[in-house]
Amino acid sequence: MTEWEYAKQIIETIEQHGGEAYIVGGAVRDYVLGSLPDDIDLATSLFPEEVMALFPKSVPTGIEHGTVTVIIDHHPFEVTTFRSEGSYSDSRRPDHVALGVTLEEDMLRRDFTMNAMAFHDGQVVDLFGGQHDLEERIIRTVGSPFERFGEDALRIMRALRFMSQLDFTLHEQLRDAASALSHKLEQIAMERIAIEFEKLLTGPAYRKALAEMVELGIHRHLPNVTTELMQRVQQDERTPVNAVSGWALFLYHAKDETWLLPWKRSNAIKREARALAELCETGLDVMTVYMTDEDTLSTYFKMNGEKDRSRELKRLLPIQSRQELKFNGRDALELGARGEAIKHLLLDLERRVISQDIPNHETVLKEEARRWLQRAGVS
Ligand code: ATP
Ligand code: MG
Repeated sequence: MTEWEYAKQIIETIEQHGGEAYIVGGAVRDYVLGSLPDDIDLATSLFPEEVMALFPKSVPTGIEHGTVTVIIDHHPFEVTTFRSEGSYSDSRRPDHVALGVTLEEDMLRRDFTMNAMAFHDGQVVDLFGGQHDLEERIIRTVGSPFERFGEDALRIMRALRFMSQLDFTLHEQLRDAASALSHKLEQIAMERIAIEFEKLLTGPAYRKALAEMVELGIHRHLPNVTTELMQRVQQDERTPVNAVSGWALFLYHAKDETWLLPWKRSNAIKREARALAELCETGLDVMTVYMTDEDTLSTYFKMNGEKDRSRELKRLLPIQSRQELKFNGRDALELGARGEAIKHLLLDLERRVISQDIPNHETVLKEEARRWLQRAGVS
């Protein structure tokens, strides 16, 4: 069964019990655009407890805003009760959400016309001209963009990331509102902005979206982002193929290792982005290939649009790690080395083995170590 068929089954079950249910949000947008999405969200007139009672495997993943995750054959579906949102006094989160409203009200709270359609029984319910806007390839808010961005400024970032992902243009009034209200982004949690920005960076039209951000002055409200930096990244011939490579381009052009800190990314992302930026700086010299893990190397080839030679290059190295060096700390001690000298000696031998200056042979390494220690005045 496809995801779409599972979703239909959920809808049927809900209807048999007197409720209404629809496929909503991004899945309907993607369906109208001609692709079958694999992440399908549903909206229903039933309350969360009623949904949970109907489906034996369900998890209250966001019960306070009406969301239950229903699992069928190991496939999860978010089923959310129709809801409307109260006023937004902080430009971030609604003061309260109301469950038990109509489909129309649920569609009214959604960000863009293309994301505010529902699907049911082979029919698209399109109350705000979403299909028309998809045809015109225009992103338009549901209602006044000034009001909608005033409620939740994250929508400004979302508009730009959809622009990048779909290669659409922004409606003229939406552009004006995004520009006028961009300062409100400073009230939004950094993690949420960063997630939308990552999606923007990996979209096919990311250069266009970055140019639009600069044009509208939105980048000024993002941490460590200058106009010059935005332009450098746009002009770079490499293409981000995933979030890490997107961040790496910014790190590389910013020439600042701490650039990513205020973006609050995970340690793994920070580490990989730094390694990639380093690769962009040095190119594929043998020491860098040795120091960089294979996945990161692979990303490097992809962002350069080159054939992935990461495995091959790794395999060509004389050793893969310090452990394979035929000389270790104990050997160094035996030769009379102490403290810091051991560390420096091992580093030197490791570097020379990797650059194929000397072979990874016990006797050779011992002899080289003796000479090194003599030169260092250790023995
Ligand atoms: P993707 O395919 O990238 O997941 P999506 O449209 O499904 O795109 P989500 O972030 O998963 O995006 O959100 C699901 C739906 O919830 C959206 O289609 C939209 O209707 C609504 N939505 C999400 N975020 C907002 C927001 N900040 N304001 C209003 N509606 C929103
Ligand atoms: Mg989604």
